[in-house]
Amino acid sequence: MKIKTLRAALEWAKEREVALGHFNTSDIAAFHGITKAAKELGVPVIIGTSEGEAEFIDLNVAVSMVLDARKELDHPIFLNADHFRSLEKIKEAVVAGYDAVIFDVASEGLEENINKTKEAVGLVKRIDKDVFVEGELGYIGKSSKILEEVPEGAVVSGDALPTVEEVKRFVEETGVDLVAPAVGNLHGMFKNTPNPELDIELIRSIGKSIGVPMVLHGGSGISDEDFRSAIEAGIRIIHINTELRVAWRKGIEGALEDKTQVAPYKVFPASEEGVYEVVKDRLKLFNGML
Ligand SMILES: [Zn+2]
Repeated sequence: MKIKTLRAALEWAKEREVALGHFNTSDIAAFHGITKAAKELGVPVIIGTSEGEAEFIDLNVAVSMVLDARKELDHPIFLNADHFRSLEKIKEAVVAGYDAVIFDVASEGLEENINKTKEAVGLVKRIDKDVFVEGELGYIGKSSKILEEVPEGAVVSGDALPTVEEVKRFVEETGVDLVAPAVGNLHGMFKNTPNPELDIELIRSIGKSIGVPMVLHGGSGISDEDFRSAIEAGIRIIHINTELRVAWRKGIEGALEDKTQVAPYKVFPASEEGVYEVVKDRLKLFNGML
């Protein structure tokens, strides 16, 4: 593909009214599963590492993996620092060569969030003006895990969600390149029930009033119908993590049923396959192929 930058990938998505898939990883099995699926379908993809995932994999290793895959597969693969919560960590990611960073202080009040996010945008742009900065508005929980209940303090509906005016002000005052307002989404997925429904009209109204692309977090557990409506209403990046972790674990568990198996390279392909299947399915949906 001719797409060389995240900016170009987002323009590509906007023209086609599709969303880019953002998938987290902290190991090479999931990484291969994600990149393989994207290459096969011919769609750009974003790899995400949370602070914890980045610490395990190492920032520089993550950048090397992405640059290598981009070249070897001749495919647009981008790397995002997902929910980094300190300026120091943000700086490390930018210096290492990440394409984008998410500075997340959404659990704080609006004024504090605006001030701190603005500071992060300034810091990143001084180092590399082409690195995208995403800001978060409205707390939606922190962990990509199986949920028993709505995380404490998370906003999921009605008056608790950020208003169009608040998002507009946040975008204008901070100078972020991307924004993820809480629109009924949550990090993590419920064990037996679907996640709460998205506020599609809110997404549409926000989209009309701001000039930057919107990102949807906590994609695991959201219905296909909600995804389609959200993309149609203007969402341009969708994050999936918990679902991949579940597939990853299932793969490992299956491979380890053979108690004599001790070769990692014979165990991990089962995880790669599981992640690949989920990513392929989600990418088809996000890119209008389902
Ligand atoms: Zn997220």
